[in-house]
Amino acid sequence: MVKNYDVIIAGTGAGGIYTALNLPDELKILVITKRDLILCNSALAQGGIAAVYQPKDDSVGMHTQDTLIAGGFKNNPDSLKILVNEAAHEIETILKLGVDFDRDEHGELHRTLEGGHSRRRIFHHKDSTGFEITTKLQDALKKRPNTDIVENALLCRLKKTSTGFSADILHNDEHCTFNSRYFVLATGGIGRVYDYTTNSAIATGDGITFAYEMGANIKNLSLIQFHPTAFNNKHTRECFLISEAVRGEGAYLKNCNKERFMQNYDDRLELAPRDVVSHAIISEGRKLNSDEFYLDITHKDPEFLKNRFPMIYKYLLSQGIDMTKDMIPIYPCQHYLMGGINVNTSAMSSIDGLYAVGECSHTGVHGNNRLASNSLLEALVFGRQAAEDISKRITENQSCPLDSLESADFPVNADAVPIPRGIRTEVRHIIQKSYFVIPNMQEALSGFERISEIKRMLEEGNFIIDQNYVEAKSLTTVAYLILKEVI
Ligand SMILES: Cc1cc2nc3c(=O)[nH]c(=O)nc-3n(C[C@H](O)[C@H](O)[C@H](O)COP(=O)(O)OP(=O)(O)OC[C@H]3O[C@@H](n4cnc5c(N)ncnc54)[C@H](O)[C@@H]3O)c2cc1C
Repeated sequence: MVKNYDVIIAGTGAGGIYTALNLPDELKILVITKRDLILCNSALAQGGIAAVYQPKDDSVGMHTQDTLIAGGFKNNPDSLKILVNEAAHEIETILKLGVDFDRDEHGELHRTLEGGHSRRRIFHHKDSTGFEITTKLQDALKKRPNTDIVENALLCRLKKTSTGFSADILHNDEHCTFNSRYFVLATGGIGRVYDYTTNSAIATGDGITFAYEMGANIKNLSLIQFHPTAFNNKHTRECFLISEAVRGEGAYLKNCNKERFMQNYDDRLELAPRDVVSHAIISEGRKLNSDEFYLDITHKDPEFLKNRFPMIYKYLLSQGIDMTKDMIPIYPCQHYLMGGINVNTSAMSSIDGLYAVGECSHTGVHGNNRLASNSLLEALVFGRQAAEDISKRITENQSCPLDSLESADFPVNADAVPIPRGIRTEVRHIIQKSYFVIPNMQEALSGFERISEIKRMLEEGNFIIDQNYVEAKSLTTVAYLILKEVI
């Protein structure tokens, strides 16, 4: 079966859905997700979305400055300018689409504070902002007759053709070819390449791998953000995040002696940017020979905490911790990727017609380290930039008619076998040992050799092209690109 579309978007998180919503009604659009609609990093976002919207004592200049400081002044100035200036438009649009942000007693939008922000400018829905934004945007997209949304549709292979793109998509155990004039990768992050991550199971770096294999420019894959305060439960790989907003509302960080220690590392104390706090925890741990750390917010009004952080409160209770009375055990873990598929200010990659939005992209807005709550914003702002660029190109008639799109050949070999067991676990262990907050050069050097071997084996072997293969190859490719930069 072959089907043709104007635009295919891989990913139903904030980036993919918002791109689709901003494309004109007359285009034929396909949006796919490899699992169900809601399984994505966007739906996990707790803290909120940063924006200078109806400001009181804030300005886009201040938002710019805070983002630059967090990013070590390595941010791309052109894309950062777009991010901060377009933020208000995106907030206005998602409010109109039904997104519900918390309001104060006067009915005004409530703004919270997070590390690195000099002003309260984070709009939020309690402590489940990402779920609110993602579900409301998905609901809006479902009403659009020009868009087909397909769940359990795994992008397995992607090729550039003379007329656009041809994709091999595995849906209900069947490989189908879909062609499009333009293709948008909105496939999210890479967290699953680590043993410990806050990321959703879908975060295996597939889009980055497809773009890399097609020859696109990939940048800064070793710029990984480690969140300082994941709930410390080393028994599971799933690290539940204790939002930065908890520190924004006054929580203290304490060491194994139950003493505050951030004063020894940074003047901004608990509200220093994430890389600074994660480094401080690792350094303090080495000094005290302990990995026991806590967040303590027991000095705040219990009713305020239950109302402000209902999801975190409930989760911690299920783990035997009452955050109104108990200190919360925390430790850093992988959280976010600043690097990715390098794109211009219209979110287009170095391959003509191939766009990347959200966490899989590298717009350069974050510099060396992302300022909290700037990533949902980036996904929306650059999703719209991509949509506007595609619309402009289609209006200017720069592309081929739909029924003449070329199909690529995606061979399926009858003798193919499943990939050997244990590859993903081995790759994860190598990365966790080689590069967690501070790189370990010895591990990274030997790890790179082994990862290169695995990558070659996956590329050259005759394997069944299914989810296991696609994700293992993506994780290995991402690990390879990270370590190549580290060593
Ligand atoms: C726990 C947590 C808390 C966070 N809190 C915040 C916050 O408060 N504020 C903030 O700004 N940011 C936050 N972030 C970061 C932010 O949520 C993400 O960076 C952002 O939502 C990424 O959106 P996205 O659309 O790029 O990717 P995602 O939302 O992850 O969506 C990726 C999509 O791609 C699909 N996909 C992937 N591979 C394939 C394939 N091969 N075929 C088909 N589909 C595929 C997936 O199925 C999924 O639909 C948080 C992240 C986490 C994990």
